[in-house]
Amino acid sequence: MCIGSDKGNIDLQIVIYNGRLLSTLQIINIMSQTSSLDTSAFMSGLIAKNPAEPEFHQAVHEVALSLDHFLEENPKYKHARILERIVEPERIIMFRVPWVDDKGLMRVNRGFRIEMNSAIGPYKGGLRFHPTVNLGILKFLAFEQVFKNSLTTLPMGGGKGGSDFDPKGKSDNEVMRFCQSFMTELYRHIGANTDIPAGDIGVGGREIGYMYGQYKRIVNEFTGVLTGKGLNWGGSLIRPEATGYGNVYFAQEMLKTRGESFKGKTVLVSGSGNVAQFTVEKVNDLGGKVVTLSDSSGYIYDPDGIDYEKLKFVMYLKNNKRGRIKEYAEKFGAKYVENERPWLETADIALPSATQNEINETEAIALVSNGCMCVSEGANMPSTPEAIQVFIDKGILFGPGKAANAGGVAVSGLEMTQNSMRLNWTRAEVDNRLQTIMQSIHNTCCQYGAKDNNFVNYVDGANIGGFVKVADAMIAQGAV
Ligand code: NDP
Repeated sequence: MCIGSDKGNIDLQIVIYNGRLLSTLQIINIMSQTSSLDTSAFMSGLIAKNPAEPEFHQAVHEVALSLDHFLEENPKYKHARILERIVEPERIIMFRVPWVDDKGLMRVNRGFRIEMNSAIGPYKGGLRFHPTVNLGILKFLAFEQVFKNSLTTLPMGGGKGGSDFDPKGKSDNEVMRFCQSFMTELYRHIGANTDIPAGDIGVGGREIGYMYGQYKRIVNEFTGVLTGKGLNWGGSLIRPEATGYGNVYFAQEMLKTRGESFKGKTVLVSGSGNVAQFTVEKVNDLGGKVVTLSDSSGYIYDPDGIDYEKLKFVMYLKNNKRGRIKEYAEKFGAKYVENERPWLETADIALPSATQNEINETEAIALVSNGCMCVSEGANMPSTPEAIQVFIDKGILFGPGKAANAGGVAVSGLEMTQNSMRLNWTRAEVDNRLQTIMQSIHNTCCQYGAKDNNFVNYVDGANIGGFVKVADAMIAQGAV
């Protein structure tokens, strides 16, 4: 949210930053405390040029900090002004999405597609339908996606899009009419070799189906223009599971470095959507016990663990009935805490899987004090910068989203490959490839993030590891 957005008067811009109302100058000051002079100047310029986009500033600042020394040691990237270019989207598309509700009333939402970077492949990244969606949030997500896609080792550029449309409380027919109207504009900007959107918050199999149907109807082509498709019309096995499974595989790799595993561990998970559900499933497979889930109304705590039977109930509740997580507590007699997040509960591992900035500094301190040894991000940027600092200062295992949740887009990449070859791999084949990719991302993080005393800073590792491939491609391709 922004009150006042005059680019020339950045001290007059007031935004919500990590839950606090701050002026832009105050944010620049906070960032300066942890930055070199170069990075401070770079961030001041970025904030002045992209006002009222605090999530975008936060995401860029984290990367700029990681790259600080690396750019000094590798001046070719500075000479080519890669940092200045990589924060500038190649293209932003914004459009009106009119649709008619079940009462016959005209509604209008705003649609977006951020085509951030195509240096190593066509733009690739999800669509988010949520009332909080705005340009700054989608730019942060598109920016992170560039690094994440690079880490997967697959040839995919970065993009993101969506709308401030809220699917909650809408009938299937209303969702279909919205998706058709959204695609009626978006179709002209995307394509199997140009830009391949997928799902994200509020966009699951139902929405991908309606959008794919409309795309096919308009262009008269059956092509792999979206991923997350249904199995009998071009989808891949394991795609729904991929982000949650991938995050657990990544956490498993981190745990291995300390001779640990999921077996017998208690785990906090937030969210109860696509990522959270398959996170619970894979933790159960590996012998751990998940005790929490949440939605935007509150969280449930079940000390006995969310076993496969209870998970089946959650999947029906969220994917079919589209109800609230509170109903879990009513059915199984678990604790329900309204309007709170699960991070004050005690556990060995935390896997945040709902949304950005959902773990603050206080919650991070509580997690570590309660014995949490590993935090791995299923969601995008769920930990605030202050929370991340706590995890790193305390030396616990911390897997940032752009590495830990890259399994989703990785299997989207595998879906594109199967579409191009016009054949389908088995469940085991896709799962094996997913595991190999998550191991490779973990290795890259260790390669670029290794510090003294055997400590791996996975944030630096992911940021530098993701950067190098894209930056080298940008240099090779010249001033484009
Ligand atoms: P879903 O829409 O399936 O689920 C989102 C869950 O998070 C819901 O339980 C939702 O609760 C909760 N949530 C959303 N916004 C908020 C909020 N502001 N405060 C509290 N809870 C909230 O989305 P996904 O599971 O697909 O995505 C979850 C996260 O994972 C996102 O950060 C997304 O960007 C990231 N991600 C997803 C990938 C994918 O493949 N799907 C890939 C990589 C990352 P409610 O129903 O009340 O809104």
